[in-house]
Amino acid sequence: MAGAHVPDDSGRTGLHAIRGALLHFIDDPADAGERAYEYFDDGLLVVDGGHIVSAGEAPAALARLPAGTPVVDRTGKLIVPGFVDTHIHYPQTDMIAAYGEQLLEWLERYTYPAERQFADAAHGREVAEFFLDELLRGGTTTALVYATVHPESTDAFFAAAQARGARMIAGKVLMDRNCPEFLRDTAESGYADSKALIARWHGKARLSYAVTPRFAPASSERQLELAGRLLDEHPGVYLQTHVAENRSEVAWAAELFPWSRSYLDVYDRFGLVRPRSVYAHCIHLDDADRARMGAAGAAMAFCPTSNLFLGSGLFDRDAARRHGVRVGLGTDVGAGTSFSQLRSLDEAYKVAQLAGQRLSPLSAFHLATLGGARALYLDDRIGNFLPGKEADFVVIDPAATPLLARRMKHAPGLQDKLFALMMLADDRAIAETWLMGAKRHARAELPPACAC
Ligand SMILES: [Zn+2]
Repeated sequence: MAGAHVPDDSGRTGLHAIRGALLHFIDDPADAGERAYEYFDDGLLVVDGGHIVSAGEAPAALARLPAGTPVVDRTGKLIVPGFVDTHIHYPQTDMIAAYGEQLLEWLERYTYPAERQFADAAHGREVAEFFLDELLRGGTTTALVYATVHPESTDAFFAAAQARGARMIAGKVLMDRNCPEFLRDTAESGYADSKALIARWHGKARLSYAVTPRFAPASSERQLELAGRLLDEHPGVYLQTHVAENRSEVAWAAELFPWSRSYLDVYDRFGLVRPRSVYAHCIHLDDADRARMGAAGAAMAFCPTSNLFLGSGLFDRDAARRHGVRVGLGTDVGAGTSFSQLRSLDEAYKVAQLAGQRLSPLSAFHLATLGGARALYLDDRIGNFLPGKEADFVVIDPAATPLLARRMKHAPGLQDKLFALMMLADDRAIAETWLMGAKRHARAELPPACAC
C-alpha cells in the first residue's frame, strides 16, 4: 500500500546492541589515510536512547554489556552510518526517468507540469510518504529536499518526515519569474510563506528549514534579496539552490544579471554564499568561484546520475578539494536516475574516470556518509558512530544478489568489498535501515534478536 512504512518493530529505545561488521569514518580518507576510518569485522554497535554509546570489537564489548542486554545479530552483514543525500526533489518522484532533454527543456516539458499537481495538499502527502519510504529503502537517512512553490507541499513533507523520526531538511521553492504562471510566487509572498514555514518547522523534532530559490534565472533580484534577509533573520536555517549545471543555463544567468562576474556571483551579491548554503551541481565554475565557496564555508552537492542523465557535464571533485570546499553526494531525483546512493557512487566513480580523477572506495563511502554530514554542518549529530551521535545506520547485505554473492568470494579485502558494493549493489542490498536506534525499514525477514 502506498504510504505504508515498516513500524519500529525492534521496539527498543533503551540500551541494545547490533552485531555485525562495522565501518565508519572519523575523517576524510584523502587527508588522513588509514586513520580516517574504523573497521571491525566482528563488531558491536551499542545504542541507548537513540544515540550511539560505542562501536568496537564484539567480544570485548559484549563482555562489558549488562546481563540481558538485547543484541540483534547481523553477523555477515556490513553496518555503516545512514547515507546522506545532499540534493533531491521529492515532487519529481513521479517523473524520474523522463526521456530525451537537457536541463531547460526538461524543466518545461516534464518538471513544471509534475510540480503543478502539488497545489493539491493530498497529492503532496501521498507522494511524500512514498518518497520517504523509497529513501529508507535505499539506506538514506538524511536528505536536503526541495518541495514545490506551494507552501502546503513543504508542510506535507515535514509532517511525513516527523512521523518517521527522520532527520530531514527541506524548503518551499521560490520562483517569481521565467516560469509558468501556475508555479509563480512573488518576492513578498515567497518571503512571507517561507517565514511562516520556518516558524512552523525549523528545529522541530529532527527537521530543519532551507530557504530554496530554485535557481537565479527564476528569481527576481528582489526575491534573492529577501532570501538573504530570511537567512539573516533566522540563524541556522539553510540555503539550497542550483548553480552552473548546464551551459545554456549559465549563459541565461549571465544575460539576466549582466552586472555579475559569474553565476555564483549573482548569489553572492545577495548574501547567499555562506555556511549552510548548498549548491547543486557546480560543474561550470571557475577557480575564483571555488575559492569563494571554500572561504565562505558553502557546500557543493555532486549529483553524478543527474549530471550524466541530462548531459550536463563532469563535476571536478579534485578542484573542489584543492579549494577546501565541502562536498556532499546528491541523487537529484527526478533528473537523477536512482534514489540509491550506492548507484550514485557507481556513477561518481565513472565521472571521476572521465575527468582523469580517482574516487577510491573509502573516499566514496566517506562521501556518502560523513562527507555529506559535514557538507550539511550536521557532523556533530550524524555521519559516523562516535559516542553521542544519533543512531541512524544501514545494514547492508553483501550477498544480496547472486552476482554480488559470487563477486564477494573474490574480494579479499575491505576495499575490494566496498568497491564491488558501489559498482553492483542497489536498494536490494539494504537489508535494514534504522533511525535513532529503531528499525524503520526491513527488506525481508531476518532472524529475530537474540540475547547473546
Ligand atoms: Zn536539482
